Amino acid sequence: MQNKPIMGQLSHASGPTDVALIEQTIDTNFKHAVRNWPDREAIVVRHQNIRWNYRELDQQIERVARGLLAAGIEHGDRVALWSPNRVEWVLIQYATARIGAIMVCVNPAYRPVELGYVLKQSGARMIAAAPAFKTSDYKAQVAQVRQEIPTLTHAVFFGEQSWDELLAGGESIDAQAITDRAAALDNNDPINIQYTSGTTGLPKGATLTHRNILNNGYFVAEGCGYTHEDRVCIPVPLYHCFGMVMGNLGSTSHGACMVFPDEAFEPGSVLATVAEERCTSLYGVPTMFIAELNHPDFKTFDLSSLRTGIMAGSTCPVEVMKQVIEHMHMDDVTICYGMTETSPVSTQTGADDSLEQRTSSVGRVHPHVEIRIADPDTNETVARGQSGEFQTRGYSVMQGYWQEPEKTAAAIDADGWMHTGDVAVMDDAGYVDITGRIKDLIIRGGENISPREIEEYLFTCEDVEDVQVVGVPDQKYGEQVCAFVRAAVNSTPTEQSIKDFCRDRIAHFKIPHYVLFADDFPMTVTGKIQKFKLREIACKKLNLH
Ligand code: AMP
Repeated sequence: MQNKPIMGQLSHASGPTDVALIEQTIDTNFKHAVRNWPDREAIVVRHQNIRWNYRELDQQIERVARGLLAAGIEHGDRVALWSPNRVEWVLIQYATARIGAIMVCVNPAYRPVELGYVLKQSGARMIAAAPAFKTSDYKAQVAQVRQEIPTLTHAVFFGEQSWDELLAGGESIDAQAITDRAAALDNNDPINIQYTSGTTGLPKGATLTHRNILNNGYFVAEGCGYTHEDRVCIPVPLYHCFGMVMGNLGSTSHGACMVFPDEAFEPGSVLATVAEERCTSLYGVPTMFIAELNHPDFKTFDLSSLRTGIMAGSTCPVEVMKQVIEHMHMDDVTICYGMTETSPVSTQTGADDSLEQRTSSVGRVHPHVEIRIADPDTNETVARGQSGEFQTRGYSVMQGYWQEPEKTAAAIDADGWMHTGDVAVMDDAGYVDITGRIKDLIIRGGENISPREIEEYLFTCEDVEDVQVVGVPDQKYGEQVCAFVRAAVNSTPTEQSIKDFCRDRIAHFKIPHYVLFADDFPMTVTGKIQKFKLREIACKKLNLH
């Protein structure tokens, strides 16, 4: 694929269009794989001892789709999914797509405050969940918030009676009912809501259509050169686009095999899976690759089946990319850059790019996508080599934030450009480098965190009079959460009491790693808190660089 010629010398580029966009629903596209490769392995879930070919996977999806129909799930109803990586996750994803229900991805690390919010905001009718994950009792937490959600009529838990009943209910539904429902679907229908942490407090539900995510998954996989012979190791969480779009849809649109090493990331099980399943591709955020490379038994695993993979989610250090190429056999590894709101990928490096371009840029514009770098003050496209805000336009841009027209309008301008809040530079050849963020966001090990959301939560603590949250550098996770607390009068909160206030109520990754106390915060003359100064103060006090 050739990129179109540079438009003048401005930081504006359009992706190749020689391969057409897919104008199908997710299920029509999946059925295509079932017809073409019925006997090829479609899914391996190591921790559940599951290994199904495309025909078997299709049958299992059909059972769940019929169960959902029997439960009265209508076209456009929201079905929330709260689970670590398991086979049921994949079944719900493709079954909801088959019957046109909108799947709402719930972060497995969420706790009741966040769970209640997303179920209510999305108006979920059903929640399908694992009974528990690690120390988190999902059943108890669903019970805790259930009465606050008037729309929620069904809760089913994998491996329990409620799940069996859902499947049994489907036995009364015939194939025609599913065919009739499928005929009513349109590939521009929303099919997925993914809650993302932006800069403004509570998570927002990025609403994505079949067309958005099927095409993005397909073109990401094209960028990795997938065929039906590929076996893709997916240790990244499914609730995020990296897993369910770049992993699942990328694989099934090519008849490749999805291989899940574990419920959640564990470097040893990833390495063992790659070796024993002969995976050809491996995904991860940078911290995952670092953990794999540093595993004490790294050298004992045979990774020679690997050819490609994807590193994405936060800045990918050049050195880590080089090590992955050199020590993990991932000669064709690519870097992707994007965000949930753009399905997610906007740029990707190519196997043919030079080592320098492949390790120190996020690549060039994706097929059928338009990107530009704009001056954040004037919104004019800047010249090549100058920095500005990265913006994306095209098929991949979400429909909007679920029932939040004002927030949608603030993110996608009248000309259709999604403003990412990332600072980038485009070189003469169209390669993009992400150099920073204008948005006030913390990225800890690939997990986006809204400082405002943590501040709002800590404001509900009576020992806290005021609080400011910033990200500080961290060798392992890239960034860590640091809270500056001003204590309420006659209160003496401690680092521990603040952490205790968060524990089991909000997701573990949002709990401040550092808690510092301050009487005042640095302000501008207009009274705006200078977070960059707070960050400097924190680094000094904590001796971080
Ligand atoms: P999410 O919506 O969770 O996918 O997060 C999107 C954000 O992650 C982007 O706006 C970037 O700030 C960051 N990000 C994703 N991929 C990369 C990458 N390859 N390099 C640098 N930052 C990235």
